[in-house]
Amino acid sequence: MIYTVTLNPAIDLIIRLEGIMTRKKNNRIFQKTQDIGGKATHVSVVLSTLGVPNIATGFIGADNQEILLTLLAEKGVRCQFVSQPSSATRTSIILLDQSGEGSYMLTEPGFQAAPETMQRLLQFLQNNVQEGDWVVFSGSPPQAFSVSDYAALLESVSQRRGRLVVDVSGAYLREALRVQPFMIKPNEFELEQLLGRRLRHTREIVWEVERLMKQGIRLVIVSMGKNGSMVGYDKAVYKITPPMVEEVNDTGCGDVFVGGVIAKLYQNSTLEEAIRFATALSATKAAQKGSSDFSLELAESWQSAVRIEQIGGVDR
Ligand code: ATP
Ligand code: MG
Ligand code: MG
Repeated sequence: MIYTVTLNPAIDLIIRLEGIMTRKKNNRIFQKTQDIGGKATHVSVVLSTLGVPNIATGFIGADNQEILLTLLAEKGVRCQFVSQPSSATRTSIILLDQSGEGSYMLTEPGFQAAPETMQRLLQFLQNNVQEGDWVVFSGSPPQAFSVSDYAALLESVSQRRGRLVVDVSGAYLREALRVQPFMIKPNEFELEQLLGRRLRHTREIVWEVERLMKQGIRLVIVSMGKNGSMVGYDKAVYKITPPMVEEVNDTGCGDVFVGGVIAKLYQNSTLEEAIRFATALSATKAAQKGSSDFSLELAESWQSAVRIEQIGGVDR
């Protein structure tokens, strides 16, 4: 089984305006839609679309949970969230006008997880995760969630011999490294934040990938948006170049990438097959408007345009 864990999920409320958003004027809405907010939930959407068994878990606010659970069910995602009473799952407002200059995003911090809610999730993982299961933590925890609670969740998975995938940033990523996850996928900015310095040459990213591999992380992926990614696995580091696409919206490419890699590895594909597929799939995401829209058909045909070359390595 694959479990995906979203600790601060969101419902995206996408509001389209007529004309250009203007102050002191009635801005008319011509379309209002709801969508699944990103992170591990989107990894689940990719897995379910590919027919890979998975369960979406994490925290959810009881007040409006049906909205998110229904949206996920419509995408074929099985859910077993820990529901906190008298709390609302946050809503992220995405405002799109006709200026063609991108969207406004208005986000809420999300409810605080009570100690009891945290305990229930810990119990869920301890009761369900079995050796060989994959557990994907993606996205930041809610406000005031302690680094030590985050570590406790990750450790409960490693103790059960689950295969940990962590896509998080800042102090939580630093803490996650101590637990030696199977796979991490910071983007280049998250890697810079982790190191506390700018990375000016791709060579430096390769060195950092090698260093993380030596720390015991089996699959290290640093994603670099339209420039592709650096992937360290088994003793080699590869530079991955995606197909050229006209970028429409790169938000959510990371989630689609992670979903694609995990789906293929879970189905026993080779690393090269998994990376080739995930790179093509996330490129199809970049070419679409929605933050969770991707195309399996396009990904099939774009795979051959993905370039994989070895650029470094470590002795182990
Ligand atoms: P997220 O918004 O989901 O957190 P991220 O910043 O973590 O995304 P990115 O590095 O932006 O992740 O993108 C992940 C992968 O998606 C890249 O490594 C690349 O393969 C692919 N990708 C992103 N943008 C483009 C693009 N414009 N063209 C082709 N591929 C892209
Ligand atoms: Mg990005
Ligand atoms: Mg990301």
